[in-house]
Amino acid sequence: MKTFDYLEPTTVGEACALLKQGRGEARVFAGGALMTILMKEGLLQPKTLINIKRISALKGIDFHPAQGLAIGALVTHHELETSKTVKEKLPILCAVEKEVANIRVRSMATIGGNLASGEPLTDLPQVFIALDARIRIASSSGERVMALEDLYIDYYQTSLAEDEIITQVIVPPAPERSGIEYIRFSSSSVVDKPCVGVAARISLGVEKACQTVRIVLGCVGPTPVRAKKAEAVVVGKPLDARLAEEAGSVASGECSPVSDLRGSEQYKRAIVGVLVRRALARAYEDASQS
Ligand SMILES: Cc1cc2nc3c(=O)[nH]c(=O)nc-3n(C[C@H](O)[C@H](O)[C@H](O)COP(=O)(O)OP(=O)(O)OC[C@H]3O[C@@H](n4cnc5c(N)ncnc54)[C@H](O)[C@@H]3O)c2cc1C
Repeated sequence: MKTFDYLEPTTVGEACALLKQGRGEARVFAGGALMTILMKEGLLQPKTLINIKRISALKGIDFHPAQGLAIGALVTHHELETSKTVKEKLPILCAVEKEVANIRVRSMATIGGNLASGEPLTDLPQVFIALDARIRIASSSGERVMALEDLYIDYYQTSLAEDEIITQVIVPPAPERSGIEYIRFSSSSVVDKPCVGVAARISLGVEKACQTVRIVLGCVGPTPVRAKKAEAVVVGKPLDARLAEEAGSVASGECSPVSDLRGSEQYKRAIVGVLVRRALARAYEDASQS
């Protein structure tokens, strides 16, 4: 591993200014679950490492009835999994977190790092996109908020500028009569990264018709992707088995999986079809009972 400067700013402003000074050769270090691997393998050799763990403004989970759930970028997977607030307001996140990696990774890795890494084999981006989450981003010139869906560009590439830091994830309150389901499938072992991950969220309108539908596919392409044609199959109608099956079949054509050790392209498309069908059915049931 090459030598590098190591800095520990205590404010977001300081961290962004250091990133700007680094001119693309400085990198944020949060939990280090990914950064450590990339640096050890020589795939990334930053001149400066900016450890943001001492910035208290990036910690904590809050809930406001009007704004929804606000999750600090430094919240770890384990903190999200075990948060009383999250369990009460958005239990799906606790359930998803239980399946992420293993307790060692969950204890050190952060939500901000998970979203900012642009890693394709992750779980949280598709769940947060299905929830219409936004991210708050700070830079040396100010702050902006954008839909998480717009963050991803390509494998490990995001639209974050060199001096930008994700500070918070905001999940707005769900419309009434909403349900959500996330299903991940690992083809080797349950603690492996997912081979396919599908999130589905449905809000019901009159006569139990699906008013708003989100179907988000993860791990089957360079970035998480909304299966918008499959969503259109379901919108405006009550969900039944035939419609869920059709949506699954359409969604399997809306992703771009590659063949690898976790399965062939064809296999992954087939899994997408099945998971979309199941996730829609469970989200619909959840919405009907709410
Ligand atoms: C063995 C293993 C198994 C895993 N299994 C899963 C799994 O099943 N599901 C899953 O979803 N994930 C999984 N992961 C991924 C893991 O959750 C992420 O790698 C981790 O969340 C990254 O977070 P971190 O805090 O460690 O980030 P770091 O490693 O510190 O940083 C990762 C990247 O994000 C950038 N970054 C970090 N924080 C910010 C921020 N606030 N703003 C801007 N940029 C930032 C860094 O510069 C770097 O480019 C696994 C990882 C490992 C090592």
